[in-house]
Amino acid sequence: MAAVKSPYEILGVSRNASDEEIKKAYRKLARQLHPDRNPDDPEAEERFKEVQGAYDLLSDPEKRKAYDTFGASGPRGFPGGAGTGSVRFEDFDFGSLGDLFGMFGGGRRGAGRQPVRGNDLEAHVRVSFEDSLRGAQVRVPVSAETACSTCGGTGAEPGTAPVTCPQCQGRGVVSEAQGLFAFSQPCPRCRGNGTVVERPCRACRGTGRERKTKRYAVTIPPGAKTGTRIRLKGKGEPGRNGGPPGDLYVVVDVEPSPLFERRGADLVLDVPVTYAEAALGATVEIPTPDGPVALKIPAGTESGKLLRVKGRGAPRLSGGGRGDLLARVKVTVPKKLTKAEREALEAYSKVSRERPRERFAGVR
Ligand SMILES: [Zn+2]
Ligand SMILES: [Zn+2]
Repeated sequence: MAAVKSPYEILGVSRNASDEEIKKAYRKLARQLHPDRNPDDPEAEERFKEVQGAYDLLSDPEKRKAYDTFGASGPRGFPGGAGTGSVRFEDFDFGSLGDLFGMFGGGRRGAGRQPVRGNDLEAHVRVSFEDSLRGAQVRVPVSAETACSTCGGTGAEPGTAPVTCPQCQGRGVVSEAQGLFAFSQPCPRCRGNGTVVERPCRACRGTGRERKTKRYAVTIPPGAKTGTRIRLKGKGEPGRNGGPPGDLYVVVDVEPSPLFERRGADLVLDVPVTYAEAALGATVEIPTPDGPVALKIPAGTESGKLLRVKGRGAPRLSGGGRGDLLARVKVTVPKKLTKAEREALEAYSKVSRERPRERFAGVR
């Protein structure tokens, strides 16, 4: 089993370090490891959380005392019943113990200090029909909240630092004793942060955050269609209190093509043919995403018939390969006839044995 580091080791301070030394060590590490300074560095993010957790514990005199007494596992790891004073631990569930001592993670905690994952963001990107088939690299502007670049997210004017909240002494919660139990609630003064800002940063008015438009390079996969979602892990809004950032979802919107219509991975193309071509059969040239191909119209093809051209559709988003091109035959009827055309059709009509309404016979 890997050795669990003590909060003292995590902050790099001695077991009898003063509150001031602990705070100093924490600030230094938090600045170094802040996720905004270490984007895409999961190790720094992990360390940042560790440091937050260690400071959370050691900055609270009660938690620290409890840790020094019981170790990391708290009274849970203590032999049953051997509590302090008259309280027997086994009589309480852990939730009430957490409240009773106002300490230890795992149970309920001071609400404001809990790591909170950042929100997911959604951005839409419009791509041409051709790009949706080929795939493309696009840059997507995303307006998101980030740590204020002036104050580094502390909310305090540069040169100053947040100070320990005088109301809760940095615990982030205030407790009210009622008999044996103490009920904790987030500190109203610091909203659970444990620190307050005396001189707010002028750039962000003390919020520690600013809106910035970032541009992300996004790879549109070949075969993307309208509604395809691309996830950019960790590119959402930053987390709070050391929580992980959310994700960015880029939603593809494909410009319609004047020729092709998507049907899954297949593409449907209307192919107008004359009556003579449909009746006699013909080979016609049709466009595909990869350039023109010859399509054989068999003799006697009806209007609306789908002729499949294998592998000339859109790339499949999963599973590989490509869909097919479905050529939808549309028999056209001339609006105007030349004299020669009219005579030819009349001659045809005379000799035609075609009886298209045969099945109506006998129906009244
Ligand atoms: Zn600021
Ligand atoms: Zn407070």
